[in-house]
Amino acid sequence: MNTSRLAVHNLGFPRIGPRRELKHALESFWAGRSSAEELLETARVLRAEVWHAQHRAGVDWIPSGDFSLYDHVLDTVVLLGCIPPRFGQIDGEPPLSTYFALARGLPGIPPLELTKWFDTNYHHLVPEVREGQRFRLGSEKPFREFSEATALGLRSLPVLLGPVTFLALARAETPRMDKLKLLPALLPVYAEILDRLASLGATWVQLDEPILSTPLTPEWQRALIWAYERLRLWSKSPRILVATYFGGLDDNRTTALELAVDGLHLDLVRAPHDLAALLPVLPRHWVLSLGVIDGRNPWRCRLDRAWALVRRAVNALGPSQVWIAPSCSLLHVPLSARLETRLSPWLRAELAFALEKLEELNLLATAALQTSPPAPPDTGGPGPSSPNPREIPEVRKRVAAATQQEPRRSAPAHIRRQLHQRRLALPPLPTTTIGSFPQDAELRRMRAQWKQGRLGPEQYQQFLQQRITACIRIQEAAGLDVLVHGEFERNDMVEYFAEHLAGFAITDHGWVQSYGSRCVKPPLLFGDVYRPAPITVPWWQHAQAATQRPVKAILTGPITLLQWSFVREDLPRDQVAYQLALAIREEIRDLEASGCSIIQVDEPALREGLPLSAPDQALYLEWAPRAFQLAICQAKDETQIHSHMCYCDFRAIEPALRAMEIDVLSLEAARSRMEILDVCPSWAQYFALGPGVWDVHSPHTPTVAELTERIQLALTRIPPERLWINPDCGLKTRSAQEVEAGLKNLVEAAQRVRLALSQT
Ligand code: GLN
Ligand code: ZN
Repeated sequence: MNTSRLAVHNLGFPRIGPRRELKHALESFWAGRSSAEELLETARVLRAEVWHAQHRAGVDWIPSGDFSLYDHVLDTVVLLGCIPPRFGQIDGEPPLSTYFALARGLPGIPPLELTKWFDTNYHHLVPEVREGQRFRLGSEKPFREFSEATALGLRSLPVLLGPVTFLALARAETPRMDKLKLLPALLPVYAEILDRLASLGATWVQLDEPILSTPLTPEWQRALIWAYERLRLWSKSPRILVATYFGGLDDNRTTALELAVDGLHLDLVRAPHDLAALLPVLPRHWVLSLGVIDGRNPWRCRLDRAWALVRRAVNALGPSQVWIAPSCSLLHVPLSARLETRLSPWLRAELAFALEKLEELNLLATAALQTSPPAPPDTGGPGPSSPNPREIPEVRKRVAAATQQEPRRSAPAHIRRQLHQRRLALPPLPTTTIGSFPQDAELRRMRAQWKQGRLGPEQYQQFLQQRITACIRIQEAAGLDVLVHGEFERNDMVEYFAEHLAGFAITDHGWVQSYGSRCVKPPLLFGDVYRPAPITVPWWQHAQAATQRPVKAILTGPITLLQWSFVREDLPRDQVAYQLALAIREEIRDLEASGCSIIQVDEPALREGLPLSAPDQALYLEWAPRAFQLAICQAKDETQIHSHMCYCDFRAIEPALRAMEIDVLSLEAARSRMEILDVCPSWAQYFALGPGVWDVHSPHTPTVAELTERIQLALTRIPPERLWINPDCGLKTRSAQEVEAGLKNLVEAAQRVRLALSQT
């Protein structure tokens, strides 16, 4: 043990590679352009690189097993031999084809469901369990990766998803099934894994139980205690560090203290109060891993504050019992801010991505045993006397004025509905899409050339206009009722708006994994936000000029802009959301002035923004819908306001949905087997509903029969005059052929059902 510094612990690291190597390797493998061996070799090289990088950065406990070819929850499904029978009988470790089939589906075999990892924008696959579910050791992955690190001369800390969180995330075959009954069958597999890791020489293992940061019933609390007791009895485990993050322990504090483990990791960024509460009562032999550097944001840490927390723990427990760490896995931040050479120097100096966060920890590790905090690095930023580059008084004034009263639309829902019927005269079961159309290689090439200045702005604009016109023709040919322009100008629904709003900066390499091979590049929301000029209006105008049918304008809503950006921390989130809302409000006003009658304000991130703890949830459920309202409340009553949300458990945000004065809400439904129909019918009194009937994330194009069946299913719950027919989400991820075929089928299915309705 080094006595001049604390041990640095890391919980997980970005997997995708500095140039998104994993993404490219996966996509080339799926397209049949490269072999499994090539893919696995890319993965092996990436693992070695990140282990070495962490070692160089001074990490003492480097995670292993956190790497994944697709998703760590999927890896756990395979590890525990919990593959649903529709994927076939599998003995031993499944081949890569089965692994990817679980994630992406096969013709006629739906994949596992996809949902957001707690309150992040990372998506995990949802395990499926049934009554009497059996488990077995289904893969060698944790052992392989631990040995791989050992062979490189590195001591690693194997990371596993804990058994109770695994069950909590799993989808039970029947809603009433008691998932906890499966624990006795699950734990022996965990015991076997722990034994194997011990025999390979692992001295510690990290078991992630982030459900400890969510409200738990007494049954689940008891299950946690029982599970770790059993693991202790049934295995010769390495020492166990239970990790929780994204929130505090709060009501689960006693439960956490009773776990038969050897250490605990806490998220002291989200819940600094946990420390004072735990220090006096912590079991003597436990190690406490202090998550003091924010693993969810890209900003430099206030090292003096982190230092004060760490000192407190060191004084109480002594240095050998204290580790320091990021608050959670660094999966949620990009790799290195050093690559961002095009940002203004002051902003660059404010950034700390994964590697820089480890450097901050390294500074703290030494300073924690000294009597003063580490000196903040000289960032070359503006001195204290320069004007604050983040603040614009005019924006503050406008937000203060706009939030004086509750934002409400002027007419109630049923009046608006009549106005829309008169203005739009749509058929029953109107068909539409969610906004984006496929973005092909040519489009990406043209965009890149334009960005590099090799294609003039007029030529680029013309090219996009041609795409829009072609997209309108495709939709007319398919027979859709409400068209869209296709979103070709947007490489990403958040980045595009961020590029056009003041207060944002865009990174060049700030990629973060979203799911599988898909990555997002969250913009940096560093300053006060306003809209210097209209953003989407000319594109919408071009589309509407090409058709007689109504073209729905698509905007990204304030909560999603907030949630999918890296947000400044010197202003409360609600205030930032209100600033964004006022910018979107101006865009709505200009669209209306151009004659637009249907405007969709996308909020796919509304659910994931919901904090984990009950008091924070209550606050969020007030300000988040208010921000949305602020954006739409001045829309004319005859303007039909749509919104779209996807891939989440919508029930938790029900009160927000009711408050939002949306006219039509489209939701993802097909991917989760239309289960939303069990909860959403009661919402039809507030807004019309478009439960998606086409799972756009599966390469399988739905047939007319499948679509008809889903529409009919929806009609058993939602009255025909309140039902819209649309896909689950944007069509951006599909090919042009898939989209043409799928849309034709979608319209044909809607027409069949309309006909049947008119005959009854
Ligand atoms: N309008 C967006 C699209 O169609 C919505 C995407 C989303 O929900 N994430 O791509
Ligand atoms: Zn969506």
